[in-house]
Amino acid sequence: MVSPGHVVVVGSGLAGLGVARGLRERVYAGRVTLLGAEPYPPYDRPPLSKAVLLRDDPPDPTLKADWAVLDLDLRLSEPAVALTAHGVVTARRPDPLEADAVVVACGAEPVRLPGDDAAVHLRTRDDAVRLRAGLSPGARVVVVGAGWIGAEVATAAARQGCEVTVLEAAATPLSAALPAEVGRLTVPWYGEGGATLRCDSPVERVERDGVLLAGGERLGADVVVVGVGVRPVTAWLAGSGVEVQAGVLVDEHLRAAGRPGTWAVGDVAARWSPRYDRRIRGEHWDDALNAPAVVAANLLGGTETYDPVPYIWSEQWGRMLQWCGRATGRTVWRGDPGDPSGWSVAWVGEADRLEGLLAVDRPRDLVQGRRLATRMVRVDVTRLADPDVPVRDCAA
Ligand code: FAD
Repeated sequence: MVSPGHVVVVGSGLAGLGVARGLRERVYAGRVTLLGAEPYPPYDRPPLSKAVLLRDDPPDPTLKADWAVLDLDLRLSEPAVALTAHGVVTARRPDPLEADAVVVACGAEPVRLPGDDAAVHLRTRDDAVRLRAGLSPGARVVVVGAGWIGAEVATAAARQGCEVTVLEAAATPLSAALPAEVGRLTVPWYGEGGATLRCDSPVERVERDGVLLAGGERLGADVVVVGVGVRPVTAWLAGSGVEVQAGVLVDEHLRAAGRPGTWAVGDVAARWSPRYDRRIRGEHWDDALNAPAVVAANLLGGTETYDPVPYIWSEQWGRMLQWCGRATGRTVWRGDPGDPSGWSVAWVGEADRLEGLLAVDRPRDLVQGRRLATRMVRVDVTRLADPDVPVRDCAA
């Protein structure tokens, strides 16, 4: 394949910047245009729910880049509004930007609840600054959703001295990611951290001064934070031919279905995983960090595959949670979940292969477990259940 003369990358987040960087690292000398909807140069999102909410002097989340070497046409506050046969149409100019290849890297946006205009959704730098300003001691903060973001926001709000209530529709926290028997173990952390957690409490709508629960109860709040998940930003692709089903459908080479010369990466992509024989939507930093290099290589004629074991981390209630793989098969506990120094839980599937692992304050378990899960290694379950045996020594 001939190298594309002009690559337009839509989305200036971690994934979009990564594609541009990956192209230049491979000595691509053509034009690269990076379109961003926000006014800020590319920045990192994980600090927004951690350092930015917690620290008096939060670090600048702007991603480091050697702009001279990258030599990009970086267009901020210029979102793509359509993708046509001629190229990418932006909000600033009606003539499409002609492109030999288009990379869709425009991320995801928060799922909304009825009436939530007055609520805060934590996705952008501006959201984080706004939320932080509302977290004053004594403020009544209602967090809707006890997922990864909700738990981190509740942690920060409680630390700032707010009166925090977390309302979760499911029976346990982290229900979208972890089995109930594991999510349940995080319930006491809320009380210990000074927050009130109410599960089985779906919110019907957000109101001017609080929330209305499905059962009719009203709960007053000074600040309502809605953290009930995200959905990929795909509306602008309508009519482009690109196939969208809960994300832009891409194969294991991250090539988009439905429109030649189009790729998708990061939170917006729903990639085919040969490893799991199903589609996976990333929604995690690790994908946005590592998948762009594969797009860059393949844009330049490569045939690289992106199919890692998913990985995510979260910092909540003074603990570091790290999670890789999938919760399929038998559950194997490593240590006592009541142990404040940490514990892990692993999942062992067919033929005793390690499928996934959640580590709470046991980073070594995660690193070693991730390697074994990646290689689909068979494990000795008896050894795995002994927290004193390093995970890497549990290969059967
Ligand atoms: P994004 O970071 O969303 O970047 C996409 C960019 O595209 C955005 O700047 C957006 O404004 C722009 N855009 C949107 N539409 C258009 C358009 N039409 N035209 C041009 N540009 C457009 N993951 C973890 O694994 N661990 C964590 O601890 C963790 N913490 C997080 C904390 C917060 C507060 C948030 C919001 C996310 C967190 N994540 C975490 C998830 C992680 O940050 C994301 O998976 C990652 O940012 C995805 O990168 P991306 O580049 O695909 O998308």
